[in-house]
Amino acid sequence: MSRSAPGSAPLPSPLDGEVIVSRLKELAACTDVPGEMTRLTLTPAHKRAAAQVSFWMREAGLAQVHMDATGSIVGRYAADRANAKTLVLGSHIDTVRNAGIYDGNLGVLTAIAAVEALKQQGIRLPFAIEVTAFADEEGVRFLSTLTSSKAMAGIFDPKSLEDVDAHGISRMEALRSFGAPVDRVADCRRDPAETLGYVEVHIEQGPVLEAAGAPLGIVTGIAGASRGHVRIRGEAGHSGTLPMAMRHDALTAAAEMILAVEARGHADGKELVATVGTLLIAGSAVNVVPGEVQFSLDVRALSDELRIRAVADIRAAVADIAERRGVKASVDIGHEVPAAPCHGPLKERMAKVVEGLQLPVVRLPSGAGHDAMVFRGVMPMAMLFVRSENGSHNPREYAAPADIGLAAEALYAFLLKTAEEM
Ligand SMILES: [Zn+2]
Repeated sequence: MSRSAPGSAPLPSPLDGEVIVSRLKELAACTDVPGEMTRLTLTPAHKRAAAQVSFWMREAGLAQVHMDATGSIVGRYAADRANAKTLVLGSHIDTVRNAGIYDGNLGVLTAIAAVEALKQQGIRLPFAIEVTAFADEEGVRFLSTLTSSKAMAGIFDPKSLEDVDAHGISRMEALRSFGAPVDRVADCRRDPAETLGYVEVHIEQGPVLEAAGAPLGIVTGIAGASRGHVRIRGEAGHSGTLPMAMRHDALTAAAEMILAVEARGHADGKELVATVGTLLIAGSAVNVVPGEVQFSLDVRALSDELRIRAVADIRAAVADIAERRGVKASVDIGHEVPAAPCHGPLKERMAKVVEGLQLPVVRLPSGAGHDAMVFRGVMPMAMLFVRSENGSHNPREYAAPADIGLAAEALYAFLLKTAEEM
């Protein structure tokens, strides 16, 4: 039955949080592992989800709905005039293994809802809106990631097509069987001169908004990250025969270094986080004084300067501890991503909209990476966070329908305000 059939009940407002949640649940049925939410990029479940999203896009009044070269689904809501610029809204519909149903999907569905509300009100704006359901954000299946949003930003690396998954299937092959026109990557790029920017709604994936009692948060930017590892070489020995005073224990040195990393994280208050997430003890045994240890290092901050200074301090602390304990230590930072600050005017417009909904305006950085970060230096970008519970990347991830409704309402109001200010 057509939802708009004469005489039927009035259309539920597309911005209703309950309506969006029912779609999230419907989308969650597209999983490669029954009983859990597992939708790695370019899998059969992803294909079903892409088809469902395409259907909702068309229903919402989006035209030219198609799959792009990277497997994203893109639809367009035309402007009220010719030669108008375009505002891009979106997020991703691939997930991690045993994921929650909100991460990524929520941003796509709120964007579709905002456009559907425009259509329902018969409103066209002085700019076109493109909604995109990116295909590759989580980076679980292949080594490279964010290929969809990178293609849009014009920084797609063709080498990522050669990446292979655990079954030896290349991204190129996966894209072909997904039905993506893989030879048309160039078409994915949006000309920054014709684009107003990129706006993404996403669950917070952290506890800050919940602690502040705020349903929505204005993202100040996406934190930059330094990632690497620390290697310590001491001297292995027999735990019974090696006197304490003669030891060069790599593990106790690592313990002290790990505490130094934590202390350095605390030193910058809320501005920086520093984490040791892995610890490897070579040839570990109950009766061996550890001779070789390696641990990971992950430092993130919205300020690149602060992060670089923290890494330098950690290097100095590691060297200090190593010298005092008579072990050798090296710090190797193999992965460095600069911070992506959100665009001032877009961010402030979003703050005004949230204020207009009589909600507290909480500003916070994103410690996690998002599609939005690839637009750094390419085009203006902003993000709106939705309060979430139980962290993320697990089935207990949760956002309340009322908060989701507020996010959709905020995004809708943001579109109207953007038109107003043009
Ligand atoms: Zn996400």
